[in-house]
Amino acid sequence: MNEELDKINKINLDLRCPVCHQGNLYMIYKVTKIPYFGGIVTMTIRCDKCSLKISDVIAISNKGDLPTQQKRLTFKNNMGDLIVLSAGSKIEIPEIGIEVYVSSESGGEITTIEGVLLDIKDKVISLMRNASKEDKAVLSGILKKITNELRDPSGKLSVVVTDENQRSAIIPNELWAKRAEKEREAMSVKISTEEIKRTGKKVIKDYLNR
Ligand SMILES: [Zn+2]
Repeated sequence: MNEELDKINKINLDLRCPVCHQGNLYMIYKVTKIPYFGGIVTMTIRCDKCSLKISDVIAISNKGDLPTQQKRLTFKNNMGDLIVLSAGSKIEIPEIGIEVYVSSESGGEITTIEGVLLDIKDKVISLMRNASKEDKAVLSGILKKITNELRDPSGKLSVVVTDENQRSAIIPNELWAKRAEKEREAMSVKISTEEIKRTGKKVIKDYLNR
């Protein structure tokens, strides 16, 4: 059985809850299919007895395993590329010494290259408020580089996504835009319920190992 587009589903994971050891785990999820790429699974796993709740966003490629590391330069054409950040992944902008971890508490995130820069800009601004004089000078240098790149993207910075679990992805804007086209129905994006169930079980396993 293959998954229906953008429909909210619920399945039983056939797993005993690792926290209360009494309830069963079920998963509520939605699959967003992307032609020539695969899909994005947005999921929440819950126990039917206790308060356990695990949320995550997971990219699944049709072409097999996703790389553990992906990179995009901040060129104008790349600014709208979609970034799926699964829990446990890391974003870096090495040119300005930025490193951000996506926690399992936040439950993953879907953003763009531009969105990442805007987000980091906000973080830098809030850090500057209580920074020492020296730190403020460093932060304002970083802020200037980010602001310039947002205003006039030149490819000077790179956004590097690292995910040892291979569930994060940078998806070209063109593919994401195609999602809205009618031809998507004709394209064979195959993600089976079994695969989603397997992925859910892996999420639980990794959550417990963190
Ligand atoms: Zn439980």
